[in-house]
Amino acid sequence: MKTVNNQKRNLEDKIMALLKLEHLLSAKEILEKLQGLDQNYNKTSVYRALERLLAKGILCQHHLGEAGLTYELRSDNHEHLQCEVCGKIKAIPHTFSQPASIEGFKISHHHLTYLGICPDCQ
Ligand SMILES: [Zn+2]
Ligand SMILES: [Zn+2]
Ligand SMILES: [Zn+2]
Repeated sequence: MKTVNNQKRNLEDKIMALLKLEHLLSAKEILEKLQGLDQNYNKTSVYRALERLLAKGILCQHHLGEAGLTYELRSDNHEHLQCEVCGKIKAIPHTFSQPASIEGFKISHHHLTYLGICPDCQ
């Protein structure tokens, strides 16, 4: 049992390490990157690990344009710029400071995407 828990934790750590390097990866991309490291990673265990990390509040899901459903670390609280022409998505530092509460809601983090046209597409 202990070994099983260690394996689960190990997989969660690997996923978090991937998402530290690259934000907004799909489940499929995460699976492919893990299998690039070790063929033994299987789809079911990777998808379950993603569910656990979401439930623990470590990951966030995003739906951004054609990228579909992607994951990133919730602690990595940045904002996004999305090009309406080529679909490119860029992470940017905060453009304003997050209020502690709004209309009685205690604010934990925010998802903000600015849409526009990137320098390459202008
Ligand atoms: Zn991001
Ligand atoms: Zn979130
Ligand atoms: Zn563009």
